[in-house]
Amino acid sequence: MSTKRISHWIDGKVVEGTSGRSGTVWNPATGEQAATVDFASVEELDKAVGIARAAFAGWRQTSLTKRAEVLFRTRELIDANRKELATIVAAEHGKVVSDALGEIARGLENVEFACGIPHLLKGGFSEQASSGVDVYSIRQPLGVVAGITPFNFPAMVPMWMFANAIACGNTFILKPSEKDPSAAMFIGELLAQAGLPPGVFNVVHGDKVAVDAILEHKGIAAVSFVGSTPIARYIYETGTKNAKRVQALGGAKNHMLVLPDADVEMAADAAVSAGYGSAGERCMAISVVLAVGDIADPLVAAIKARLPKIKVGPASDPDAEMGPLITREHRDKVAGYIGAAAEQGATIVTDGRNDLPPGDGFFLAPSLIDDVTADMSCYTDEIFGPVLGVMRIDSYEAGLKLINDNQYGNGTAIFTRDGGAARQFQFDCEVGMVGINVPVPVPVSYYSFGGWKDSLFGDSHMYGPEGINFYTRGKVVTSRWPDPATSKVDLGFPTNH
Ligand code: NAD
Repeated sequence: MSTKRISHWIDGKVVEGTSGRSGTVWNPATGEQAATVDFASVEELDKAVGIARAAFAGWRQTSLTKRAEVLFRTRELIDANRKELATIVAAEHGKVVSDALGEIARGLENVEFACGIPHLLKGGFSEQASSGVDVYSIRQPLGVVAGITPFNFPAMVPMWMFANAIACGNTFILKPSEKDPSAAMFIGELLAQAGLPPGVFNVVHGDKVAVDAILEHKGIAAVSFVGSTPIARYIYETGTKNAKRVQALGGAKNHMLVLPDADVEMAADAAVSAGYGSAGERCMAISVVLAVGDIADPLVAAIKARLPKIKVGPASDPDAEMGPLITREHRDKVAGYIGAAAEQGATIVTDGRNDLPPGDGFFLAPSLIDDVTADMSCYTDEIFGPVLGVMRIDSYEAGLKLINDNQYGNGTAIFTRDGGAARQFQFDCEVGMVGINVPVPVPVSYYSFGGWKDSLFGDSHMYGPEGINFYTRGKVVTSRWPDPATSKVDLGFPTNH
């Protein structure tokens, strides 16, 4: 049987790669190869940019009403095809279908937001700013913009980007993760069915060669990136060096601070859901629980009690709640943190290296590590797997210091029944997205998503109002219609009167 081949989506159709380079796409649940994906060369990327550039001329002329119509139809088509898209995501990513449906629902919110583009692009108008002079502001698209996305949300993160980008009148080149590239292709087909003109949305697959070609291409005006911190930093530095607008979202180490007055059972439910959902492969996953004072013992016991009930298995098993990790290498790396934690003096409460589903899938069961300290590798590193650490601390202040000293500042959560403490935490913490009794505080689409510190490079958060700003540039028009008879030469700097 020949291996399935995944090619590019350019100019509204599938385009086979010509570089001769490709990558392997795995089925993480079986450990078998699922497909190959073409990797673009510099020349192929350049061709795609040329097509997107040509499409821009017509797309930016398209009325807001017509653009909104296409987005409404896209919304309906993604909605009608949720199950199929979720199945595609599950097959290559490994997450269970219910989880994939969740990512599609949250991604779809961004398409719904973009349907409001006529309202979102309203400018300001000041009548009679000076005598007989009106001033108004407009926002115009940038041109060809690119999105480079991570493996962990192959449907949602592209939707964070392209919906607003094309609504604003740009044309878009998506370079999805080479590990699960099929969701992007299906989205391309749905956009074409929705009536998006060819060339407005393109998918170019690849590795560093394609990414570097995007960063260096003079025809690309802006780059949105989501992925790990070292690559985010590289994308930001290289993209801005090439005079592009860049927003580059990086990794995370999200703390959940549990105060002694919190409801133990509710905090345990939240820690388990946010720590092990999607096998911990979420940038908003809770990675470490900071247990303050006496709550530590009952909280660890309550989390531990929940873990054997989590059904680990392939997405094809309708009862499975947690799937495999993305690759064998990543699974082995994550498992390595459990052994390292034991050697460094932590207590392994539940060891996820045991009791794995049969076969060669990249599975790791939930692991719980107690007595974590700040010098251990399971604390200093972003693990990105189903490994939850518990650190026992004495006070709110000690927890706040850990959070604020951390290199990352993506998400955090506080669990308490004390409104004053929660209010203080929201004020004090140096983190971009904060949950109060909410463990995964991903903002709704009409706010913007982004972390602080090493979790985001650039000054623009993603989607929502900041997304609209990112994908447009401002223009201010000063206008007057005087009687020519009043015209005269005046070399003084114009003042308002
Ligand atoms: P990654 O950084 O390895 O890859 C992201 C993208 O960059 C992919 O498209 C990949 O092809 C490309 N890439 C990888 N190496 C490159 C290189 N050397 N040069 C140029 N391009 C390169 O990230 P990942 O493993 O796909 O995703 C997981 C990471 O993403 C985690 O660190 C996670 O926290 C982060 N993430 C962050 C957010 C956020 O919103 N902050 C959201 C999701 C994921």
